[in-house]
Amino acid sequence: MAQVLDGKAIALKVREEVKEGVDVFRAKYGRAPGLHVVLAGEDPASAVYVRNKEKAAAAAGIDGHVHRLLSSVSGEELLALVRKLNADDSVDGILVQLPVPDGVPSAPILEAVDPAKDVDGFHAVNVGGLWSGGSALVPCTPSGCIRLLQEGGVALEGARAVVLGRSNIVGKPMASLLLANNATVTIAHSRTKDLAAVCREADVLVAAVGRAKMVSREYVKPGAAVIDVGMNRDENGKLCGDVDFADVESTVGVITPVPGGVGPMTIAMLLNNTLRAATAREENR
Ligand code: NAP
Repeated sequence: MAQVLDGKAIALKVREEVKEGVDVFRAKYGRAPGLHVVLAGEDPASAVYVRNKEKAAAAAGIDGHVHRLLSSVSGEELLALVRKLNADDSVDGILVQLPVPDGVPSAPILEAVDPAKDVDGFHAVNVGGLWSGGSALVPCTPSGCIRLLQEGGVALEGARAVVLGRSNIVGKPMASLLLANNATVTIAHSRTKDLAAVCREADVLVAAVGRAKMVSREYVKPGAAVIDVGMNRDENGKLCGDVDFADVESTVGVITPVPGGVGPMTIAMLLNNTLRAATAREENR
């Protein structure tokens, strides 16, 4: 029977660690770390994510603010807000919730965020830092996946890892983190030939595709650790991952459920990044 990793419990542990770190930070610097989230438009899923981030920040003792803007906001107005937050010394972390409204290009806005405050880890400076082994703010979802693997006692050194998906947000940084942990990494995507056979090579398989229950038993090696990043709706409208949990459960060694796996870790790692950014800013004064 597979070991099912409890993302909720592990996320809670990370959030407790961050809270303790925030207490130390506050005692040392006389203020709380500040996290500012920019939410433009009325996307209902984004509104839920942002509310959850706001609550989690407050519970960790982080000074959280949400800037809610109408979907009619222009790119220039968004850029002006980001620049204002960059210049505000009380702001340690800036997160622009994606997607931004139609017609507003996201790339210039993400690149406008001060890399030292880029708690999403999407700025080119942080992407470069991650791949070159320098210290960097690392995207929250992949770093949450690594923490899940560590907590599950999954050995990464020398392991064959396959990352299914090559987005800038999940797939690529995930591959970089696995490489940094001395795994031998393959990145698979929609043009990969013999996809199931490639995935079957993996001791560690990370699915970040966005296709409901695509990863079935023929994709997994017996005993493999499978991390499911996907957040999809199945044919009945129920939340599900990229992995067909029921089909692979008896084959794999370790697996994350959806919901209750990677999802809760993303917010926990955001809090962790905010504390890291705040500490680095204070230490670099
Ligand atoms: P994305 O930008 O759409 O990227 C999907 C990747 O999957 C692409 O690289 C694409 O390949 C590949 N792909 C799509 N269909 C495929 C197929 N049939 N066979 C092989 N590869 C295929 O998505 P994303 O932002 O990385 O997100 C992936 C999933 O994770 C989504 O379900 C998303 O909701 C979820 N997610 C969850 C969290 C969380 O906190 N739990 C956070 C972020 C994302 P090409 O590059 O060749 O097109």
